Amino acid sequence: MNDCCYNPNEKMLTTDEAIQFLLERSKVTEQVETIKILDALDRVLAQSITSTLNVPPLDNSAMDGYVTRFSDLNSDGETTLAISQRIAAGYVGDKLEEGTAARIFTGAPVPEGADTIIMQEQCQQQDDTVVISGKINKGDHIRRAGEDIVQGSEVMSIGQKLRPQDMGLIASVGIDEIKVFKNITVAIFSTGDELLMPGEAVRPGKIYNSNRYTLTGMLQKVGCDIIDLGCIPDDLDATVTAMEKAAEQADLIMTTGGVSVGEEDYIKIAIDKLGSIEMWRVAMKPGKPVAFGEVSKTPFIGLPGNPVSVFVTFCLFARPVIRTMQGCSEVLPRKMQVTSGFDWARKGPRREFVRGQLVMDEQGQQRAQTYSSQSSGVLTSTTWAQGLIEIPENTSFEKGAVINWLDFSELFS
Ligand code: AMP
Ligand code: MG
Repeated sequence: MNDCCYNPNEKMLTTDEAIQFLLERSKVTEQVETIKILDALDRVLAQSITSTLNVPPLDNSAMDGYVTRFSDLNSDGETTLAISQRIAAGYVGDKLEEGTAARIFTGAPVPEGADTIIMQEQCQQQDDTVVISGKINKGDHIRRAGEDIVQGSEVMSIGQKLRPQDMGLIASVGIDEIKVFKNITVAIFSTGDELLMPGEAVRPGKIYNSNRYTLTGMLQKVGCDIIDLGCIPDDLDATVTAMEKAAEQADLIMTTGGVSVGEEDYIKIAIDKLGSIEMWRVAMKPGKPVAFGEVSKTPFIGLPGNPVSVFVTFCLFARPVIRTMQGCSEVLPRKMQVTSGFDWARKGPRREFVRGQLVMDEQGQQRAQTYSSQSSGVLTSTTWAQGLIEIPENTSFEKGAVINWLDFSELFS
């Protein structure tokens, strides 16, 4: 990307201003569908979930053993009690007769009158009696009704993206169908006369289109349906046609390349014809040119062409827009703090997103390390890395400093 190609009147925004701008203009799709919980992984709840019952529903045993009244146990030494009943998980026993114990199994309801469970390791059964010994406290090994979920409480709120444990929790309150936001469809295309598709023969002056694949993978990771309009040459008519097609079919349009104002960049001119576009140079590295606009009411995000810039600007700008459209309540990635394993002397006016790894040093301390090349064309930096180190504007630091870390697991969760 050559700085000489920029229009000096273009806005220069900080990373935070660019994110803020995008979030203010992004809206949830609002289209909802009802699905089975088994299909709900990674979907976003369009309703809150309130439990109509206590979980567990009754006091029950946390152990295989015997259940009795604490007052029927001798305070020291052994106690011998008659076994008056047997209660397995799934069955409700009778009221416990005084001076007796009941055989009980994990998950079985505690019978009326009983208050203490003794695990079977402390019990010896002899015909119809049990000899109980060892230290016992009143109330031992009872899982209380409602200790997990209290009837009437909200267990999940609108906007939650469902993980496996969330699916289980919804099932545990007896619900089998839920309302979720519909998946959003993203139309993508890459631009550039220089692009070859993998599988095609190498030709002079051409490079393989990697952005299409990185972008597809990232969109799949964040749960979008994709319409792939392929590779569009550096040509105004072709760009306009592709944009129109994309706007008809998708909830969001995303492109790579052609987004600055060089002679071979047609994205801005095409969208100026069809809708509206804002172009910025974001004060960040890598990245810089990013565009946001609308084509026939369909939002548009134009990512840069350089492969690492595509990766980083997707994570920082496109992902929060997508999360907002999907109805997620958490749209920004959580940053972690890690210890730097390197000195950073180069203070710069742009925020840097350096590709890094977390490694153990000789003392067993975790330290962030950087990839040898941070050029925006070196895609290997992204495959080596486990996350992005965020280095604020005008900052230098020494090894051992606490720095911000954006883990890829967080960015693609
Ligand atoms: P542009 O923003 O179109 O000027 O592209 C900037 C740089 O990224 C140029 O070196 C392009 O060749 C490269 N580039 C653009 N699109 C792709 C792509 N889909 N795959 C790989 N490199 C690309
Ligand atoms: Mg180009």
